[in-house]
Amino acid sequence: MNPAQDIDPRSQSVYRDKISTVDSAGKRVRLFPKKPKGNFYNARTIVSIFLLLFLFAGPFLKINGHPLLLLNILERKFYIFGVAFWPQDLHLFGIGLITLIVFIVLFTAVFGRLFCGWACPQSVFMEMVFRRIDFWIEGDEKAQKKLSAGPWSFGKIFKRGFKYAIYFSIAFLIGNTFLAYIIGKDELFKIISEPVSEHIAGFTAMVIFSALTFANFAFFREQACTLVCPYGRLQGVLLDEKSIVVHYDFGRGEPRGKGKRTGTSKLGDCIDCHYCVDVCPTGIDIRNGTQLECINCTACIDACNVIMDKVKLPRGLIRYASFSKISGEIKKFFNLRVIGYTVFFLLVSGILVTLLLNRKPIETTILRTPGSLYQEVVDGYISNLYNIKVVNKSYDDRKISLELVKPEAGRIRMIKKIVLMPDDLTESAFFIDIPNESIASTKIPILINVLSDGEVLENFKTTFVAPKRFEE
Ligand code: SF4
Ligand code: SF4
Repeated sequence: MNPAQDIDPRSQSVYRDKISTVDSAGKRVRLFPKKPKGNFYNARTIVSIFLLLFLFAGPFLKINGHPLLLLNILERKFYIFGVAFWPQDLHLFGIGLITLIVFIVLFTAVFGRLFCGWACPQSVFMEMVFRRIDFWIEGDEKAQKKLSAGPWSFGKIFKRGFKYAIYFSIAFLIGNTFLAYIIGKDELFKIISEPVSEHIAGFTAMVIFSALTFANFAFFREQACTLVCPYGRLQGVLLDEKSIVVHYDFGRGEPRGKGKRTGTSKLGDCIDCHYCVDVCPTGIDIRNGTQLECINCTACIDACNVIMDKVKLPRGLIRYASFSKISGEIKKFFNLRVIGYTVFFLLVSGILVTLLLNRKPIETTILRTPGSLYQEVVDGYISNLYNIKVVNKSYDDRKISLELVKPEAGRIRMIKKIVLMPDDLTESAFFIDIPNESIASTKIPILINVLSDGEVLENFKTTFVAPKRFEE
């Protein structure tokens, strides 16, 4: 056994029997964390400002005249970084999703929940926006607790009413921004500016989005991270002892205790001031070791550094580190698990990049018109009717023409010209005629070239049906 494990507070597992947000009767315990201050909090504030600016500006940003991000499920139109994707690109979405999941697993195995504390919209809005409003209107954590426990006075009604009015305004803004990412900003402006009766569905979505956002940040709060978030629930299997997380240096801090550290003192560096617990937005004690509720927000690092400065001990009693590092075990950074994830990630991302680079600018679907059979054309031809659907995924106008490669004796008769705008989809129909003397069976394989401005972009295989009398 590693000597560090003798004093590993994780062996004291009482904290595992309860969670800080539920009391012994099963009722919700509302948390009132102290406002953190320190280098990490300042850095997170700067990162959050950039992220929030990016999030709110996102629906207005365009690349080559196309939305930066649009996930229009209703019209089945998707833009990612200005590139249009269609339902025909479902395989790319599938592989993209697998690549993203593998990346998240790899990133988490190495860096823990760094994303949660620094970039997750829930944490950014909760800690950097709504929590600050709490401090601004209701005062510090003691004042908030007092107000919450006190009777409904004029002051409490005013403060709560004012706070929730601001909350709802921001929730409305957030809800509408997310809606703009789904239906596009133009459609959103129509819902806002035109009569409600013309946009019942859109207006309902807007109200539901805003109300859910408000309820989340006003009441549900940290429970989104500790009870609902699937990423949080997966931490138990994603992290291991080499993952870098917010960690308490139990070797240095234990045995904790108040009192003077003299030359003969057996006390560790933790003065048991509880400040790291008081600032924690999920109400946990990081000294118990890595826990599911920890969102790696770094508030406890800042808090403990403040205390270490005061008692003139080195900073970093709580810091970003792996359990292996804290317990003094020498471990290689790249263990077998991380190497395995890296290889798999390189493999799937390689497949994704190859598919994206070879993505065709147009996608054609040709099907023999359902329910139709052959027709006998007066000038000695048998004719079949086909439906054609063409998606233009490029940024250029496209004039589409078809060329019958096989059988050579046949001909194509278009019903109308196929002209597509950028990111356009069109449907049409055409006939294939084959002269009677060239037909030797009832089912003839067909090969068609799809051309755009004379350039062959695709070829397509289908079949031609002829009357039985041609069967050999
Ligand atoms: S803030 Fe630091 S010194 Fe205070 S209880 Fe937490 S770990 Fe110990
Ligand atoms: S333990 Fe520390 S890093 Fe984890 S959620 Fe609490 S304050 Fe944030």
